[in-house]
Amino acid sequence: MRRTLYLKMLIGFLIYGILGFLLIATFTNHYTSQYLEKKEASNLYREANLIANNYAKNYYNHSMELAELETQLNTLDTYLSADIWIVDKNGTILLDSSDESSINDTRSIDSFDISDFGNQYYGIGTFYDSFEETQLSVFAPITVNYKVRGYVIIHKPMSLVTKNLYGLMNISYVTQLLLFLGTIVILAAFTFVVYIPIHRITKAAKEYAAGSFEQQIPVHSNDEIGYLTASFNYMANELNTLEDDQRKFVSNVSHDFRSPLTSIKGYIEAMLDGTIPVEMQEKYLNIILFETERLNKLTNSLLELNKFGTKGVILDISDFDINNMIKMTVQTFEGKCKEKRISFNLILTGKELFVTADYDKIQRVLYNLIDNAIKFSHNDSAITIETTEKNEKIFISVKDTGIGIPKDSIKKIWERFYKTDLSRGKDKKGTGLGLAIVKEIVQAHDENINVISTEGVGTEFIFTLPIAKK
Ligand code: ATP
Ligand code: MG
Repeated sequence: MRRTLYLKMLIGFLIYGILGFLLIATFTNHYTSQYLEKKEASNLYREANLIANNYAKNYYNHSMELAELETQLNTLDTYLSADIWIVDKNGTILLDSSDESSINDTRSIDSFDISDFGNQYYGIGTFYDSFEETQLSVFAPITVNYKVRGYVIIHKPMSLVTKNLYGLMNISYVTQLLLFLGTIVILAAFTFVVYIPIHRITKAAKEYAAGSFEQQIPVHSNDEIGYLTASFNYMANELNTLEDDQRKFVSNVSHDFRSPLTSIKGYIEAMLDGTIPVEMQEKYLNIILFETERLNKLTNSLLELNKFGTKGVILDISDFDINNMIKMTVQTFEGKCKEKRISFNLILTGKELFVTADYDKIQRVLYNLIDNAIKFSHNDSAITIETTEKNEKIFISVKDTGIGIPKDSIKKIWERFYKTDLSRGKDKKGTGLGLAIVKEIVQAHDENINVISTEGVGTEFIFTLPIAKK
């Protein structure tokens, strides 16, 4: 959401207001004035008919004098605020309620023709230029013995007819204004409830896009906006830790590559410039070989972890005897064990114990666990490897009586490159990737691995595998 969306809404809102007023000024105005005109015309028509059928008829019947008729009409004139004329068929004004001399001084309307009204009983205009102001003129025929003898014509100035129009129009305008104000209130509410929170999210999103995930957006509501905000905060948090992890990972890798490379470079330079005499070179070449092996191991482990990371671990499942695998793996460590005079204590369930798993990968797990157990054991100690069967699962335990893992490191040993401070002195070659690989493999099997360890006492790793269904 950009600033322009809000602007668009404001403009739309203004257009709505202006259109509303225009509509009232044209449409409502037109129909209201037409309504008032018709209503007044029909009122006056009723009066005109009354006059035609009573007073005027009496005059034509000779039962009432013109003067007497005039008095009557004068009263009505005031009551109706209109001008009442008695006109004969030729257009001679016999009586004009607004002109006292009209009885004696009769006047003729030029080119008077009642059919000029058309098929309406009223017309709007100056009535053959008889008035300066526009009039609403209504007529009713005076019929005596079925013959039209003349007409009652009532003129009322249009200004009086439309006088009420302004009052009515004002009501419409005020209503529209109230509606408009109501919309402003809604708009204000919208601004606080929707626009400002979304604006905040937009601003935060911009910062996230720029790589800064620190900003947390406050959540104020329990609705969709609140949910969106909370999701955004969560996303930022995740991205933040992800970025942290990645940075840590890269710096660890760089560090692990740099230290062996620096020492290799240092020794080679020293050999080349003669600082290390030829007879001493074998010792340093061995160190270089050691460091190269370490780099090789590091690269292989990283490649393996990377493979797990991108495609997940692809398992090649088969049934095999785990007891046999343990015996075989232990044999590969014979040399190392002899050095440290470490013995193995195998407590294996049954002669054979078949599990369903990826052979190579589980061998890798065992190798890593036994390798750790040997590395972190004291001389002249024993390592116990045990298999037990419980609830369709095989539990495999590798237990040593070595240096142990400090309590606050227990959770971190699974992280890539993590090595406890205790272990650094014991094992310089370690990369800290072994357990990360172990965990990936065990989890890929949908199984669990746990560690129980006491610093200075020993460590036990236990993982599970599904028993073969045979
Ligand atoms: P690599 O496995 O690549 O040779 P490593 O053994 O140091 O390196 P991991 O196997 O991942 O790495 O182990 C991580 C750390 O956990 C070790 O450095 C050590 O500090 C601790 N650790 C693992 N196993 C044991 C153990 N049996 N006893 C004590 N500490 C252990
Ligand atoms: Mg290891």
